Amino acid sequence: MTIILSLGNIDQVIQISDRRLSSNGRLIEDESNKAGILFCPNARLAFGYTGLARYGTFKTFDWLLTALHEAGPPDFIAHSILERVRLNATRTFQEHPVLRSAPRSAKKISILFSGYIYGNGAPQQGYALISNYVNIDTGYQFDVTQDEFISRYFSANDFAANPTLIQRIGNWNGITELDMYRLRQVLNERKPPQAILNIAIDFIKNLADRQKSEKYIGKQLTSICIDPNPGKPVKTNYHTSVIRRESYMPAQISLFPDNHCTISNISIKPVDDDTLPISVPKVNKNAPCPCGSKIRYKNCHGKLKIDKEQSVNLLGSS
Ligand SMILES: [Zn+2]
Repeated sequence: MTIILSLGNIDQVIQISDRRLSSNGRLIEDESNKAGILFCPNARLAFGYTGLARYGTFKTFDWLLTALHEAGPPDFIAHSILERVRLNATRTFQEHPVLRSAPRSAKKISILFSGYIYGNGAPQQGYALISNYVNIDTGYQFDVTQDEFISRYFSANDFAANPTLIQRIGNWNGITELDMYRLRQVLNERKPPQAILNIAIDFIKNLADRQKSEKYIGKQLTSICIDPNPGKPVKTNYHTSVIRRESYMPAQISLFPDNHCTISNISIKPVDDDTLPISVPKVNKNAPCPCGSKIRYKNCHGKLKIDKEQSVNLLGSS
C-alpha cells in the first residue's frame, strides 16, 4: 500500500505518488515506479496504482501498462479505454494462473486517473477510479477483494469559476480533515504551480512520518503536473530524500491511431563517476548543496528548480 494524491484546479492537475514497495509491513524497495501519463485524442491523464505490487511472477505495473497499451483501439477515447482496462482487470484477477492462487485479501488494487478531458468546450478536469476493494461512493474499504472491478468517473463542476478536486487512494488513514481543508485552500487561492507542488510534496513527506501511515508511505516521490492547455508540455519531477546519482521518470503511454506506443523505466544517469549526482534532497537555500559541489544549494541544485523539471514529450504526442 502506498499513496497517490491528486490535486486539481482551473490551472493544473498535479498527481503525486510515492515509490515505496512493501509487503506485510516490510520494506522491499523505495524506487518502484507506480505512476505514468496517458495521452489520447481526448485526454491527458496522470495515473497511479496502490495495492498489490507483485505476486509470484505477476507484476501489477507491467500488467497495467500492457492493459492500457492494448486498450487504445478501436476508438482511442478515454472513457472507452478505461472501461476496457476495467474489464481486463476483472478478467486478469480472476483468471491469471499466478493470481488465481493468491488469497483474496492480497489482491487489492486501486488505480486512479486524473487530468483533463478535451471536448467541444473548455478542458474539463476528469478523474477515474478503478478498484476491486473500495466502495467508491462511501470510501469504505472491503477486507477482501470483490470479483468485479468497478469504476467511477468524476468531473469538476463546470459552473464553478475555479473548480477544485482532491482525490487520494492507498494508505490515506493519516490524512485529517484539517489537511484536506488546507490543501483545498491552496487550490482555491490558485497559488502558482510550483508553490502548490512544494506544499504537496512537504505534505506527503510529513504524512509518511505519521503513525497512522504505518511506514507504508515512502519519501521518494514522483510528481506529474498537467496543464489544461493540450499544447503545453506535461511536467514531471522526481523528488528524493537522499542523494541519488540518477533521476527517474514516470511511464508514458501514447494512444493515438497514428502514434501508439508505451515507454517505461526511464531514468537519467551520468555515465562517468566524476559527474555530480543528478538528484539531491531539498535543503535550506543557503546551506551547502548536498551534491558535494561545495556551493550553496540556491546556486546549485536549488537553482531554477523549474528548469530541472522534465518536460514530457518523448512520445511526441499532440
Ligand atoms: Zn548541487
